[in-house]
Amino acid sequence: MKSSRIVVWLRNDLRLEDNETLVRAIQQGGEVVPVYCLDPRMLEKTSLGFHKTGHFRISYLLESLKDLKTSFQELGADLVLLQGKPEDVMLSFAKEIRASAIFFSKEVTSEERAVDREVEKKAFSLGIACESFWQSTLYHKDDLPFPIKQLPEVFTQFRKEVEKQSKVRAPFARPTAINYPMEALSKYATGTPTLKSYGLDRPKAEVHSGIEIRGGESAAWRRLQSYFWEKDLLKSYKETRNGLIGMDYSSKFSPWLALGCISPRTIYTEVKRYEKERIKNESTYWLVLELIWRDYFRFIAKKHGNKIFLRKGIRNQMDSWRRDKAQFQRWVEGKTGVPFVDANMRELQATGFMSNRGRQLVASFLVNDLGIDWTWGASYFESQLIDYDPCSNWGNWMYVAGVGNDPRENRYFNILRQAKTYDRNGDFVRLWIPELRSIAGFDVHQPWEVRSFAFQNYPRPMVALIGAETVY
Ligand SMILES: Cc1cc2nc3c(=O)[nH]c(=O)nc-3n(C[C@H](O)[C@H](O)[C@H](O)COP(=O)(O)OP(=O)(O)OC[C@H]3O[C@@H](n4cnc5c(N)ncnc54)[C@H](O)[C@@H]3O)c2cc1C
Repeated sequence: MKSSRIVVWLRNDLRLEDNETLVRAIQQGGEVVPVYCLDPRMLEKTSLGFHKTGHFRISYLLESLKDLKTSFQELGADLVLLQGKPEDVMLSFAKEIRASAIFFSKEVTSEERAVDREVEKKAFSLGIACESFWQSTLYHKDDLPFPIKQLPEVFTQFRKEVEKQSKVRAPFARPTAINYPMEALSKYATGTPTLKSYGLDRPKAEVHSGIEIRGGESAAWRRLQSYFWEKDLLKSYKETRNGLIGMDYSSKFSPWLALGCISPRTIYTEVKRYEKERIKNESTYWLVLELIWRDYFRFIAKKHGNKIFLRKGIRNQMDSWRRDKAQFQRWVEGKTGVPFVDANMRELQATGFMSNRGRQLVASFLVNDLGIDWTWGASYFESQLIDYDPCSNWGNWMYVAGVGNDPRENRYFNILRQAKTYDRNGDFVRLWIPELRSIAGFDVHQPWEVRSFAFQNYPRPMVALIGAETVY
């Protein structure tokens, strides 16, 4: 297809490196107009009362857009920022600038797919062509050894098959020039909106948390450079990945992957380079394995569609969940009286991030100990996590809630046993729960065992914990 002016609608691919959509548009040889739509539906409130996209996520998104805009400007182009539904504002824009085509990345989840369909339908009626590209996974959908409909329901089977039979494609090179109609589009040149324009304040920096994640492709590359090459941490990833405090126990790539500021293929390519130039070991393999988990949840979402968001999950389990708002709220605020759970929930509330260990644990506590509707938990994570990704979030929650495709029946996490393994000295709990700082060592995980503790500012546990000596 030969097009003279192509709108590149950027979504969760906010990068120049390894961006097939952008490269294909440039290859057409005409003018290219990168566009991002700030969709007001993102800001809607859920039935539970919190914003679908909380202020950490918005803040992170705006940083990513600002960075991308700068990168385009460095190439003599720009990023047009539109506010409104893509199927309305982008189509009006495309019509106004006489675009001949819209190129975009394919998404898999239902809300995004519904928008795609609307965009395609309206574009068709306007005589504008649409072309979409599969971008978000490590293994390309077309390179899988099975059709999506026959995707294995067990992760290990999926992993073994793709590792044996599929190849990761090489990333697309970063464009060095873009033919952007600067003059014709001068009236669309706006700055990036600020949090204030959304009536939000900048989230307070929690310096003591050690979590520092800025949005954008440049920050993603700085992180990769630091984690792999400067601090040389990849070689010990497998041993450190279950940590809880600070930036360096794991890669922290997830927020950048979620908005596509970096692609999994780029990370993979850098892992391979590291294996050649530094060391190849279990840790280097393990990081790739985690990226395959990410792929897996995306392909499962593609296979099962809307089911990943439903209470009954992909297993069609019966709905036996409790819907106790007061108890749920205590979980959200980190006031369950179970210190390891509360510390993780407070970290999430204060930073928009939580470790993988923490996520497993708090999710298990909500569904197994409190018996509360897992979709409530997933929905809160959606609002709060800066790395929110519909497939990884709802997929992991389904797993923990036992409505996903986990061959192991019981995903119960014994909180005190977990605490003994991952926070033996209680440092993580003391970092996030000032009310408990006076308690030394492991005792901070079970204040109810400390005779002198008064429980004035910190609640007693909502449920009796397995393994606790005292039962409430
Ligand atoms: C209940 C629950 C909800 C979750 N929600 C999300 C979410 O919304 N977005 C998200 O990216 N991850 C989610 N995860 C997965 C995982 O916790 C995060 O990817 C990880 O903690 C991010 O930190 P990291 O980048 O340092 O990970 P690392 O340990 O450095 O792993 C490298 C990359 O591998 C991928 N990865 C690692 N573990 C998983 C996993 N279990 N599932 C899918 N991908 C994985 C991520 O892209 C991650 O960036 C969730 C896990 C649970 C248990």
